[in-house]
Amino acid sequence: MIVRARLIVTMNGPPIENGAVAIEGNRVVDVGLFNEVRARNSGEVVDLGEQALLPGLINAHCHLDYTCLRGKIPPPKSFADWIRAINAEKAKLSRQDYLASINEGFAEAKSFGTTTIANLTAFPELVTKIHEPIRTWWFAELIDVREPNRARDIVDLSVESVKSKETWGLAPHASFTASTDLYRRCEEVARAKTILLTTHLAESREEMSMFREASGPLYEFMKGIGRPMDDCGHETPLALFVGRRALSARWIVAHLNELAESDSDLLARSTEKFHVVHSPRSHGYFAHSRFPFERLRALGYNICLGTDSLASNDDLSLFAEMRAFQRSEPAVSPSKIFEMVTVNPARALRQENALGKIRSGFCADFVSIPCARSTNVFEDIIAFDRPPNWTMLDGKIR
Ligand SMILES: [Zn+2]
Repeated sequence: MIVRARLIVTMNGPPIENGAVAIEGNRVVDVGLFNEVRARNSGEVVDLGEQALLPGLINAHCHLDYTCLRGKIPPPKSFADWIRAINAEKAKLSRQDYLASINEGFAEAKSFGTTTIANLTAFPELVTKIHEPIRTWWFAELIDVREPNRARDIVDLSVESVKSKETWGLAPHASFTASTDLYRRCEEVARAKTILLTTHLAESREEMSMFREASGPLYEFMKGIGRPMDDCGHETPLALFVGRRALSARWIVAHLNELAESDSDLLARSTEKFHVVHSPRSHGYFAHSRFPFERLRALGYNICLGTDSLASNDDLSLFAEMRAFQRSEPAVSPSKIFEMVTVNPARALRQENALGKIRSGFCADFVSIPCARSTNVFEDIIAFDRPPNWTMLDGKIR
């Protein structure tokens, strides 16, 4: 099949005017000017007309479990209050509710042009019941704060469930809810099975004061539920995380809003850099400290965007996420912002040779949006605020 569009945004060089992509099976076999691609390849021509063809979007951090919590929790006064509120909402939900929630989330993400998602689930035992409609990295989200003696079992049991999926990983939830043993076991499994790891780190001011000062609402809350607090009162969340492991590019770290001055050295010194996911609208909902984008970028960190869950966001549109990011970082060029939902998350998922670009040999995952005759297609992409007109996933029109 040959797909023609007014503009092909390859993310592998400048956009191609009056371009085309040839597809065989689920792979791209040729990209270039329409006349040349047509001369070199046979097959049916699908002409998208006045459209821009883009690589499918990649959501680097999401919890589809909580799609059904959209609008249920008003912005909280404190992060600890939010944890209380989401726990109260979760107590009302059954397994069936979670299954429905995950399926609804997939449908919504897909309708917004997302073709790949890194999804954390607190219910790895449910994954066999789900036929994901887009490429999914399933991360089993793990918490052992109420039963730290079971860290190893918790990890191993979740692996038994989640490994039924082709692409999976592990997500120790955060340093305040997952023990050092749990993190350690996840790292052992990751080395043995060459899987990816993700976690939440340095998200809130309260997490910073819990670990650095042994005080604040999160400290009191965690102490109140019986968490051993001997790791508090010494270091920043990042120092604690980095100090306990050989860092590797296996880690995808969500948030990183709270960095002390002393953390810059740690970030600069680490030779193997983890990947970072920023969720601009969830960040705004919590009114977190400013995301240190420029500092992390200057140190060479790969920064991606994610929606996080609908317990702290309005919808699963990465276009809306790019707009929110642009509002807080207007100096960043629109093409660099688009990289944060294509090329950068592809790299974080170790798919830099398969996803995030329109290029020969890559997966045939595309979305198309109307193309106004503006001078900068990347401005049009970020301004686009409807579901895309047309999607191709794995070589099939959806
Ligand atoms: Zn999250």
